[in-house]
Amino acid sequence: MKVLITGGAGYIGSHTVLCLHEAGHDVVVLDNLSNSSVESLKRVGELTNKCAQFIEGDIRDEQLLNRIFNEHAFDAVIHFAGLKAVGESVARPDLYYDNNVNGSMVLMRAMKAAGVMRLVFSSSATVYGDPASLPITEDFPLSATNPYGWSKLMVEQVCRDAAVADENWQIALLRYFNPVGAHESGRIGEDPNDIPNNLMPFISQVAVGKRAELSVFGDDYDTHDGTGVRDYIHVMDLARGHLAALNYLPKQKGCEAYNLGTGNGYSVLDMVKAFETQNQVPVPYRIAPRRPGDIAACYANAGKAEQVLGWTATMTQDDMVRDTWRWQSHNPNGYK
Ligand code: NAD
Ligand code: UDP
Repeated sequence: MKVLITGGAGYIGSHTVLCLHEAGHDVVVLDNLSNSSVESLKRVGELTNKCAQFIEGDIRDEQLLNRIFNEHAFDAVIHFAGLKAVGESVARPDLYYDNNVNGSMVLMRAMKAAGVMRLVFSSSATVYGDPASLPITEDFPLSATNPYGWSKLMVEQVCRDAAVADENWQIALLRYFNPVGAHESGRIGEDPNDIPNNLMPFISQVAVGKRAELSVFGDDYDTHDGTGVRDYIHVMDLARGHLAALNYLPKQKGCEAYNLGTGNGYSVLDMVKAFETQNQVPVPYRIAPRRPGDIAACYANAGKAEQVLGWTATMTQDDMVRDTWRWQSHNPNGYK
């Protein structure tokens, strides 16, 4: 297949490009490099002996998109491009709605004009808000607590409505739980611009000595050790989930959501301990107040992805912490 990958230079995108190369697909990446560098794609090229065509540009540039769709006969689009910092989205909602919602609508307009109507969209478990029970299935009520979450929910709705209006659309909304880890080579991984918001990059930056200690946000949640519980999923499992969705789309009718998670819930302290034990490196931490907006626990029922897409996560917590550390320790300054 020939696939356009928006945001393909980023964290999940670059691992997915690698996975698609290995499966024999041809990839064109469109990325404005607002949160990434082409070095990731260079390294994917080295690892797979195959280079993705790279176009530097913005998904909101409709003329550019129309040109790209005219020049290439794509079978499908995997759409990662977007902004993802929850705190920033609260401060700059306009940026998030423009980039994530408007950008996705421009992309879908260009797709429809070109007759390319197979789309895999990066959604998030954040669309479940604070779930009433666990594990979470795809039919749970949807809600959002910040503009980032709303932007994901809105794009999901745009997709669902588009598929009702035109039965040619075949759309997979992939709701990721907590992506972590890196390719086992340690050559590509997550490279946050500023102070990491997410747990795993923070842990690995403490371990490598870039930050003094981890703040554990709350130890009084109703969980097995009081710290927040999440469903961490290895980024290579996630990348393979995109491949599975891509392969299934020709058989799918309309728009469907799939949870991509492992179904296992690990606490903050579980992750810290696993990181220390597996990598033999200390991660100093202190207990800090809860982070506003955080929920106690969140983990997936990923049965639908298994039954329909034939996909299931195979990598363990040890794989996640080991591969995170290999990437961080070999690349203490990321791609810089
Ligand atoms: P990332 O920031 O590493 O990748 C996003 C890529 O999109 C970057 O390379 C960035 O330069 C590019 N981009 C942003 N706006 C663009 C635009 N207007 N035009 C072209 N390119 C643009 O983030 P990631 O972690 O790889 O996430 C990929 C997608 O998955 C995002 O949509 C994100 O919201 C979603 N997601 C991420 C997580 C997570 O924890 N990482 C969880 C759930 C969902
Ligand atoms: N967390 C933490 N310290 C940090 C970052 C995160 O204790 O520096 C906790 C956070 O409260 C949550 C878990 O780690 O319980 C996962 O947080 P992350 O931001 O990675 O993902 P999300 O909250 O979006 O699920």
